[in-house]
Amino acid sequence: MSTRNSHYDVVIAGARCAGAATAMLLARQGARVLLLDRSRYGTDTLSTHALMRGGVLQLHRWGLLPRVIAAGTPAVRSTTFHLPGGISTVEIKPKHGVDGLYAPRRTVLDAILADAARSAGADVRFGTSVTGLRRDRTGRVTGITGRAGAARLEVGADLVVGADGRRSAVARHAGATAAHVAPASGGVIYRHFRDVAADGYHWYFTPGSAAGVIPTNDGLACVFAATSADRLRRELVGGAEAGLRRILAGAAPELAERIDHHGAAGPARVFPGLTGYLRAAAGPGWALVGDAGYFKDPITAHGITDALRDAEILARVVTAGGPGAVRHYQAERDELSLRLFRVTGRIAAFDWTAGEIGDHLLELKDAMAEEIAAMAHGHWRAPGRRPELASA
Ligand SMILES: Cc1cc2nc3c(=O)[nH]c(=O)nc-3n(C[C@H](O)[C@H](O)[C@H](O)COP(=O)(O)OP(=O)(O)OC[C@H]3O[C@@H](n4cnc5c(N)ncnc54)[C@H](O)[C@@H]3O)c2cc1C
Repeated sequence: MSTRNSHYDVVIAGARCAGAATAMLLARQGARVLLLDRSRYGTDTLSTHALMRGGVLQLHRWGLLPRVIAAGTPAVRSTTFHLPGGISTVEIKPKHGVDGLYAPRRTVLDAILADAARSAGADVRFGTSVTGLRRDRTGRVTGITGRAGAARLEVGADLVVGADGRRSAVARHAGATAAHVAPASGGVIYRHFRDVAADGYHWYFTPGSAAGVIPTNDGLACVFAATSADRLRRELVGGAEAGLRRILAGAAPELAERIDHHGAAGPARVFPGLTGYLRAAAGPGWALVGDAGYFKDPITAHGITDALRDAEILARVVTAGGPGAVRHYQAERDELSLRLFRVTGRIAAFDWTAGEIGDHLLELKDAMAEEIAAMAHGHWRAPGRRPELASA
């Protein structure tokens, strides 16, 4: 199909948790939305997949949680912290309509969101890359150029949304600079295993490394090990599987032993690390949502939750005020993000002592509580705090 000279209210690059959720919400409000992704529908991506309460709350509000559960995603009823000072288990109390956490594989979650965007009326196309931005004489973004196989696209839009992940082409072409950068970066190795009896999320922290277990679909559990990006490089010398086992042996010896007895499903996957950033979120005719605009180290397992959060903020702001209102989105995103961004950076530095990690986790808990309160009550602003705005 030729899309030359076609025009949409919103064109979105990237159809996973950030982009598909944004497309669904805008299309539900009657916007004409084109959602493009260069990958194929229903594919996996490099990511573990633990959702925090805010992410589950979003899926519940949007009417999508029953689909996640119907896909066989087990409910997580507790989180257990294994710290140098002892082990503690926190029960997930029913609140805000959420009675458990879930960790759907990305093949499940991203497909549900893309289906929901299509059902809401968005034009959803996979196998299509966004290659550039069109601008008018004032420099305002007015659309995209793209490619689907040999065919070239030119599509006009009142708003172009980059939901195209950490290497966002939209961010690059828009010239979105980072106003906040994390001090350090960790790295992660993870793999899925069968029948690792996991009664909820388990997080392990020991000086220099961390690990975790995330129960998911098909009777699998995702086991991950994390450390500083420098150490990860050294641990990878013997291969990803050997690196995973070596880091686990230090961070979570009982877990390392347990996975020896269980079959692995799929290969060990490596994320070598990337310094976190909070980029300018919007400008004339464009906005960024999800990792395209805001990335923090995976150690706090919060990227998907924040992508779903920011999809809603952006969709609400645009629905209420039109594309010109995107600067309000930036203010809200930054205000809700900075506290969590900073504590994630401190944990990902992996330079804390056995005594300090408890304090960092308490700060993380408070930051998450503040975020969920804002989300649940529909304020979308952290109470009593002033935004530190990045320049658009
Ligand atoms: C190792 C690791 C573990 C993680 N674990 C967790 C966790 O447990 N919990 C959690 O909440 N978060 C986790 N995260 C973070 C989470 O993966 C991200 O925050 C989340 O994927 C962001 O979603 P997104 O939709 O913004 O981007 P992505 O998921 O990166 O999707 C971007 C999409 O854009 C498409 N795209 C890219 N360029 C173009 C283009 N030019 N044209 C068209 N399409 C394009 C890509 O094909 C892709 O489908 C983890 C991250 C990593 C790296």
